[in-house]
Amino acid sequence: MSELSPKELTRRKFLRTAGLGLVAASAVGDMIQPAVAQQSTSLPPKIKLPPLMAPTEKESGGPPRALPPDKRLGFAIVGLGTLALEEILPAFGEAKMCQPVALVSGSPDKAATVAQQYGINPKNIYNYQNYDTIRNNPDVDVIYIVLPNSMHAEYVVRGAQAGKHILCEKPMATSPQECQQMIDACKKANKKLMIAYRIQYEPYNRAMMQMVRSKELGAVRMIAADNGQNQGGDLNQWRLKKALAGGGCLPDVGIYCLNTSRFLIGEEPIEISASMYSTPGDPRFKEVEENINFLMRFPSGILATCSASYGYHEARRYRVFGDAAWAEMDPAFSYTGLRLHMAHKSRTNSMVETVEERRMEQKNQFALEMDHMAECVMENKQPYTPGEEGLQDHKLMAVIYEAARTGKTIKLPTVSGLDVTRGSKPTS
Ligand code: NAD
Repeated sequence: MSELSPKELTRRKFLRTAGLGLVAASAVGDMIQPAVAQQSTSLPPKIKLPPLMAPTEKESGGPPRALPPDKRLGFAIVGLGTLALEEILPAFGEAKMCQPVALVSGSPDKAATVAQQYGINPKNIYNYQNYDTIRNNPDVDVIYIVLPNSMHAEYVVRGAQAGKHILCEKPMATSPQECQQMIDACKKANKKLMIAYRIQYEPYNRAMMQMVRSKELGAVRMIAADNGQNQGGDLNQWRLKKALAGGGCLPDVGIYCLNTSRFLIGEEPIEISASMYSTPGDPRFKEVEENINFLMRFPSGILATCSASYGYHEARRYRVFGDAAWAEMDPAFSYTGLRLHMAHKSRTNSMVETVEERRMEQKNQFALEMDHMAECVMENKQPYTPGEEGLQDHKLMAVIYEAARTGKTIKLPTVSGLDVTRGSKPTS
């Protein structure tokens, strides 16, 4: 099945709107051509408001630009758990190019309640058995997989075979082999595949990446990153089952340290060592690891030292050490409230160390990543974090586990170039 061109998408959106009764059915045939000619997938022009503040004050971003509902891409959310209900569905309120139009859930009552809350047509509620019939639903352009990790591969492959583009939560799967199957299935169906690495779309972390790449900190020598939480006591939760989660704190939260280090510098590690430990007798950690530390060396000589834990009190931070300054995000990986500090020698007094805080607009990370996916589909671009980016993390996590198990430092082939697994840059 071939991919839809922006023009075809626009035409389909128009027909969908007509089908919803917003345009008289008898007039549809006549109106298709003029409507297509007028419509475009680009955001409407910026609305200018009179300035409120003096020119020396920080400017607001101005009113948001958003596509009207009939031009937005329709997303189906698969799995109505914590992330879907607490973050993803509310984030559509801040999205500009997409909207939720379908739900896939094993719980009909919950799905009906959620559908009501978000104005989703009840005919667009699916379960895990009839999921494949989503192929017949022209309202759905993109499927967003928000299931336990071990279910990602199956639902991505089935979704691609149903002719839909796929956005998949992190970690991409539970092994590199599954990642490859997912990539192959999407390629075969000629559909986009993006992994939901929200940090790579978030303004503070992007500003940090630019500071690193523009050498604002001088030459970067090291990164220290920590991401962990004291995991709750329900012993039956999927995160504590190896078959469902693929591992413990590493694929769940340690992946942020790994993926963000790679994102900040754009390089791929050439050497990895690691150590892991679980408290003996703690019933939470019969199958998955509690704590893991890993050290990566990159071709430019940068060392990244990372920790992840299901046993320590919540920490979600990193610091980048350059030879002229350091910069720190704490928190770095949370959904909100991110903070960026930078320390360097005072430009006016060499005896003084300056620590400054950089503040910018906080944006909804899920809205940003979903809009990027919508834009990539509309403009036929490779997502910034495609399946290949998720696969690379899984290959590296397999090496981290091997290094921890064997106690050996593992060397990896040098990958030349920067950002080799990333696609087109986010535009907002
Ligand atoms: P959750 O347990 O709260 O939700 C999982 C959903 O899957 C539930 O609705 C559950 O009913 C459903 N499900 C279907 N079959 C299941 C089965 N066999 N076992 C267990 N649940 C089953 O999990 P969550 O926290 O929402 O995480 C979902 C995905 O999102 C995971 O891949 C996770 O890594 C990812 N996640 C990402 C972020 C992020 O910041 N990007 C944050 C949290 C979770």
